[in-house]
Amino acid sequence: MDAKIILTRSDITKLPMTWYGSQDGCGERELSKALKVLTGNRWDSGRVLFSNVFGALFVLHISPKRAMKGSIYCDAMGRNGTITYDEENKTTNLFSWALWNSSGQSSLGNGDFFADPDKPLPREILRQIEKLSELWTQGKMPCSGCGKEIGRHEIAGRYFAGCYCTDCWESKWKAIEAAETYN
Ligand SMILES: [Zn+2]
Repeated sequence: MDAKIILTRSDITKLPMTWYGSQDGCGERELSKALKVLTGNRWDSGRVLFSNVFGALFVLHISPKRAMKGSIYCDAMGRNGTITYDEENKTTNLFSWALWNSSGQSSLGNGDFFADPDKPLPREILRQIEKLSELWTQGKMPCSGCGKEIGRHEIAGRYFAGCYCTDCWESKWKAIEAAETYN
């Protein structure tokens, strides 16, 4: 038996950022552990899926990002911020997100962002995740190299979960993939 945590848009707009990666109460890690016991699965996969408006599923990873307290960081949207932690030195204001297709084989996007730990995922990140999931549902995705929108049938090559357009593959990633020993 398999079980996953599936989040809809409505869940995401309600869950505070402290839920993601949390071991406390009914946080993500705590829920994953409970599912492991209920299903008898040996591994605690900790896998969270996002269900988009079309009901398509995507692997979604959101987690606090560790960085030196007080240091200045520039997030993926080009905003500078100072890293803070709560009194227990646990929650930071810096997080990262990553989205893959349901099998986890194709990376659709990722980035770092500043957020209030007590508030839900910032709207602009949710919009980005929704946009990428809709793009995938339409048979398209951004190239992992240049970000250009490509059809899934136009993927020239893959390196781990990265999917590249012909230009990026031929000019850079083909050689990197060829040198990879996959050890
Ligand atoms: Zn490209």
